[in-house]
Amino acid sequence: MKNHFPNSYAEIELNKIVGNIQTLKERIPGKKVLAVVKCDAYRHGAVRVSKHLEDHVDWFAVATVDEGIQLRMGGVKKPVLVFGVPTYESAAAFQTHNLTATISHKTHFDILMDGTGYHINFDTGMGRLGFEPEAADDVRQLAVMNQRLICKGIYSHFATADDPDDQFAIKQHDRFKEVLTRFEEVPLKHMSNTGAATNYNFDHFDMFRVGLAMLGYNSGTTRHEWLKPALTWKTKVAQIRHVGKGKRVSYGSTWTSEEEGYLATIPTGYGDGIPRSLSNKLEVLINGKMYRQVGNVTMDYIMVWLGKEEVPVESEVTLLGGDAWNAYDWSEKAGTNTHEILTNLTGRVEKVYSDY
Ligand SMILES: *Cc1c(COP(=O)(O)O)cnc(C)c1O
Repeated sequence: MKNHFPNSYAEIELNKIVGNIQTLKERIPGKKVLAVVKCDAYRHGAVRVSKHLEDHVDWFAVATVDEGIQLRMGGVKKPVLVFGVPTYESAAAFQTHNLTATISHKTHFDILMDGTGYHINFDTGMGRLGFEPEAADDVRQLAVMNQRLICKGIYSHFATADDPDDQFAIKQHDRFKEVLTRFEEVPLKHMSNTGAATNYNFDHFDMFRVGLAMLGYNSGTTRHEWLKPALTWKTKVAQIRHVGKGKRVSYGSTWTSEEEGYLATIPTGYGDGIPRSLSNKLEVLINGKMYRQVGNVTMDYIMVWLGKEEVPVESEVTLLGGDAWNAYDWSEKAGTNTHEILTNLTGRVEKVYSDY
């Protein structure tokens, strides 16, 4: 839904996303690239981002069939892999919209319709979806018996690649290699997400799958300067007030002014995507200077303490990205990950794109 009078804007630089993909390709040469654009490309706008990237990547992936349909309706032509589980209800949609399914359980071989393309998913340690490595021979047998379906790839997913040098990630990689000895002729083998692609020197098989990295962030806490964040979230000061010493601010009165000064009210809150857990921790950029957010984050507003400095109403405020705190800073202070900071952004935040 289009906002007519949005309170805030997410400025998305499409060229930065292309640049991040090019950098990844230089660091991991000779591999195909799958762009993960689930959850509306982590709120960067799945259709717009995918169409812009179409010449630079080989595959797209989404979490749900609906997300895949959205890409096709938006005109995306490249192959689209759906990570989620196929159901009898959604089986026809894979055919109608030319989506590639994931088979992660033996029932899926029966559910999918004739001629549907699929990738097989093995659980080498994520503990979420996929076949156990011990089932490799049985799965191979099912794939061979189901000639009515088309096996296009095989993949697995890392649980701990956010941390560099993690022994379990190396173990998962070894387990997948072992599984692949039964599936040598499957054309597309892939495993690496952002963490594995940026933190590890694996061979990455035939393709790497990145969501976060193309948007300019690493998963986990290791910041790679060569990734350039594409999104900057901006708003404007809604109101400025001069308040005295002892002014209590926001629900629960968790902050009280210790001297007189200026208080800015900013029209974005947890209903827009600012975690409430950032209350009294966040800092935002106004006219080139960082100021403290004070009191509890509310659904629609945050308050910022300017001290002795007055700024004009409607001054530009950078909340996230640009020269303000980035998603690493937010996630560390909020006790979450960079993925969640981005996917928290809601439909209230209007997206504006630049491609220069
Ligand atoms: C979300 C997801 C990815 C992408 O993860 P990033 O950390 O954003 O790169 C890759 N593979 C699967 C199966 C996923 O669910």
